Order: sequence, then C-alpha cells, then structure tokens
Amino acid sequence: MKRRSDIRKLISKAREVWRQSETYQAAKKKCRDRMRSGWFFCECCFEPTEAIKIDHKIPIGKEPQTLEDFGWWLPKLFCPITNLQGLRNDCHKRKTKEDKLKMKESKDEKTKKEML
Ligand SMILES: [Zn+2]
Repeated sequence: MKRRSDIRKLISKAREVWRQSETYQAAKKKCRDRMRSGWFFCECCFEPTEAIKIDHKIPIGKEPQTLEDFGWWLPKLFCPITNLQGLRNDCHKRKTKEDKLKMKESKDEKTKKEML
C-alpha cells in the first residue's frame, strides 16, 4: 500500500480521530466562553470567536509521505495538551505561515551546512 491517495486517506482519518480525542476536546474546552455558548476566546489575542482552531504550538511538521513516516508523525499529532492552543482563524493562518517560514529557514540552514 504505497499509493499517495491511500496515504492521504490515512492522514485525514488520523486527523478525524485526533479531533475526537479527549486531549483535543479538552484543549477546545479550555478556550470556551462560559458566558456565551458556542463561543471561544483565541489564546493568542483573546478575541472572541465562534470558529476555534486547535493548533500545535510546536508544529507537527511535514505530512507523512510513506507508511513509515506515520511512526513519528502520529505521536506528534496526538501530542500532550500542553502543546495545544486554541486560535481564531486569522491567528491560526498567521501562525501556520510563520511555522512554514521557520521550517523552510531551518531546511535552508541544513542544506547550507551540508554544502560546506
Ligand atoms: Zn488571536
């Protein structure tokens, strides 16, 4: 089973199971607005929001490309609650962008070192 579509299906199923996990639900509960049902507070700017995204503070990193990759990727996805935070859409987008940039920078650094 090496087809890319199978890997993609496994990723989306893993994320589905993660969203149903106790840790994920607890992370979501943590930012709930007790005064208004269905509302949350962003843990980054404390703005109220109806759509909260649960973010990995230390990013999970690249999605698995092979079955073997799931070995390190799954424990990162199912991380302890201390690595989870609730962010509203805008903050989540900004953080994802910053994470990607950081990942690219560290990759560039690695490439530079390998070239020396
Ligand atoms: Zn925010």
